[in-house]
Amino acid sequence: MVFTDIIAKKRDGFTLDTDEINFMIENYTSGDIPDYQMSAMMMAILLKGMDERETYDLTMAMMHSGDTLDLSAINGIKADKHSTGGVGDKTSLVLCPMVAACGLKIAKMSGRGLGHTGGTIDKLESFPGFNTGISDETFINNVNEIGIAIAGQTANLDPADKKMYALRDVTATVPSIPLIVSSIMSKKLAAGSDVIVLDVKCGDGSFMKTLDQAEQLAEGLTTIGINAGKKCAAIITDMDQPLGYAVGNALEVKEAISVLSGQMKGDLLDLCLTIGSKMLTLAEIAKDETEAARMLIYAIESGEALKKLAQMVKYQGGDDRSVYDVSLLPKANLTYEVRSDEEGYVKHIKAEEIGLISMHLGGGRATKEDVIDLGVGVVLEKKVADKVEKGDLLATIHAKNEEDAASAAKELKSCYEFTDKAFERPKFIKKIL
Ligand code: URA
Repeated sequence: MVFTDIIAKKRDGFTLDTDEINFMIENYTSGDIPDYQMSAMMMAILLKGMDERETYDLTMAMMHSGDTLDLSAINGIKADKHSTGGVGDKTSLVLCPMVAACGLKIAKMSGRGLGHTGGTIDKLESFPGFNTGISDETFINNVNEIGIAIAGQTANLDPADKKMYALRDVTATVPSIPLIVSSIMSKKLAAGSDVIVLDVKCGDGSFMKTLDQAEQLAEGLTTIGINAGKKCAAIITDMDQPLGYAVGNALEVKEAISVLSGQMKGDLLDLCLTIGSKMLTLAEIAKDETEAARMLIYAIESGEALKKLAQMVKYQGGDDRSVYDVSLLPKANLTYEVRSDEEGYVKHIKAEEIGLISMHLGGGRATKEDVIDLGVGVVLEKKVADKVEKGDLLATIHAKNEEDAASAAKELKSCYEFTDKAFERPKFIKKIL
């Protein structure tokens, strides 16, 4: 096969056959197809699209480009959850201990943050001593013993995606539904769980800016999961403002602990109850979503969910006292209050910009090599539809020094848009598929 012919075929809008897709992924992973040819192919895919069969073949080829995790040594149904990436998204920190406390096995591989979005692995490293690089053996043993482990991806999991994602990032080919679907699902399928629930973000802080695009992505993801023999569902949620209040690693861990200990209600808890109910019913641990929600609420009220988080922290080498005493988590050097110069109702909060503020404070990475500061970030005090008077506290910045804090405060004010009319709080969960 000649790769230029395959690129031309896609450029001219034809469908690629299975052998051509396998040829492309095998030879790109081995280095025989150079980046410049793969860039042309990915742009052709972005412009001409791929049908369901091509997207499935691409996903399978990527999944088999490296190691796959064999979870058969874990007893019971294994579940995984994935978010398409957002700002302030600490869902896994709350949801995973909640469902594990209800008897579901969580064997989860997570990623690090890049750009304006955070990553679960960085957040977990806020627990002093927490090891996200445990061996596959420890990972499996921990899930068998306590029902939960969350670790970073093993080095050779889906190498095709690692190369393709890095290339897409610099060739303007990220926002293509077949490329996003195959990227996400090849990793999820390689990680071996039986049940997969996808949280597709929609809005300013996410890849999918409209509900229509988010629906297409959600359908693409679940179709591939179901065709691959998994129990799969998707939920579309709002990312027109950060999720919850905190943005920044240890700050988000603190917020997750507040929810897990029953001290905080709101969007984050609602989201975890919705995804968790789907997981428990797909796994047939609960007979329906009402029973599942009851089990999840009991896990919080009884303290079992928080205990599960503490157990996971301990089994992965971390200081589990920090789950019950958050003063042991990393802290920024100083805090800085941002007060409103305007009055009205919050119309919109630029989620992506808030993510970038946290990144500039040192809480995120502009490049993969950057070292992050776990203590810094932003805690919002006002969310969309809240009433604000002049001088009210909009947010608190947690920073390394005064200079960083002052520049973050200036940027933060410009993230808030106001209207003078009161309106109903927008629905956070937009659709369940
Ligand atoms: N997350 C992924 O893992 N891949 C994409 O292409 C987009 C979001």
